[in-house]
Amino acid sequence: MIKLVNSFLTEHDKEKVNNFLEDYNNMDPIRELKNKIKQIFQINNCYPVNSGSSALHIALMAIGVKKNDEVICTTHTCVAILNAIKYVGANVILVDCKYDVNKMDYNIKLNDIKKKITSKTKALIIPHMFGVACEIEEIKNIGIPIIEDITLSVGARFSDSSLIGTKGDITVSSFHRTKVISADVGGIIWSNNQKYEKNICDILDYDGMYSLQYKQTYNYVMGDINAVLAASQIDQLEKFISIRRKNADILNMELRDIKYINIPDINKNNIYFRYIIEINNEMTSEYIVNEGIKKGIQFGRGVFPALHNVLGLDNSNFVNSERAQKKLLSIPVYPGLSKSDLIYICDTLKNILRS
Ligand SMILES: *Cc1c(COP(=O)(O)O)cnc(C)c1O
Repeated sequence: MIKLVNSFLTEHDKEKVNNFLEDYNNMDPIRELKNKIKQIFQINNCYPVNSGSSALHIALMAIGVKKNDEVICTTHTCVAILNAIKYVGANVILVDCKYDVNKMDYNIKLNDIKKKITSKTKALIIPHMFGVACEIEEIKNIGIPIIEDITLSVGARFSDSSLIGTKGDITVSSFHRTKVISADVGGIIWSNNQKYEKNICDILDYDGMYSLQYKQTYNYVMGDINAVLAASQIDQLEKFISIRRKNADILNMELRDIKYINIPDINKNNIYFRYIIEINNEMTSEYIVNEGIKKGIQFGRGVFPALHNVLGLDNSNFVNSERAQKKLLSIPVYPGLSKSDLIYICDTLKNILRS
């Protein structure tokens, strides 16, 4: 079975983990990871944590989001974001996604955000979906704190060529094994805003919990072995991205003459964490996913179900996400695939589309 998602552990990763285990007491992998991330994103500090969900929870607490506040987010994303909003007791306000097949842009529909803002809105969570930057410049001037979630797009760039994760008030990422960077489990959070930065530091101050003045803190810090893996994967990020782009080129070449689909344009800012096409005959992505499994290939649907589905909200307010769930197909594109895997995937897809 060719899986849709595969974490890609290399010899480099294994060597780094082995070296660490040999010299466990003399290494400081958390510091090493922090230094690498600080250098890439040109930031003063960052905090490795035990998951992306924890990072989101900390971000909302650091901003001071509380019970009955509102947090705006795209419906077309994963449940972890919804969970984090629930952890602080806030209400989630969902916005539909864009639907741009050529740009592979299914990020939050910026125009709809403004309509949803009320006096209770305390934060916007913006996940950059599938490897493509959500251009947040135009929503920064609204003045509501923005949490950038770069989990699915680490290394992707905005149209002005700056890295995603550099424009929001707080940036979070998961390093779960199914994401761009694998620490097995883990995540990271940082902020250039001094107030938020101090709050993040206080929330994570597990060592300080024996001070005389009680304050509640969270043991959300990352484990050392996870940090070794994350740092090792970050060393290889550029290589991983270039393999993804090469794989996307192969898929584009193989799929460009097929009548029944629309494919994304080649875009140098996209890291192709997913490679998503639109089916334009009468078939649904659900049908193709099921046919693919019979042929040994796991295709996906991008996001399914979306958050408005999970919450039982009225579908008619989320037409793009609904359409995306019916007509978009996610094709394996990760670094571990060989050229012959990719060609087999495309041939199989062609056969299903013609059947
Ligand atoms: C998976 C995911 C998370 C949650 O990360 P975990 O490490 O699994 O808790 C958060 N945000 C996005 C966009 C994700 O895809």
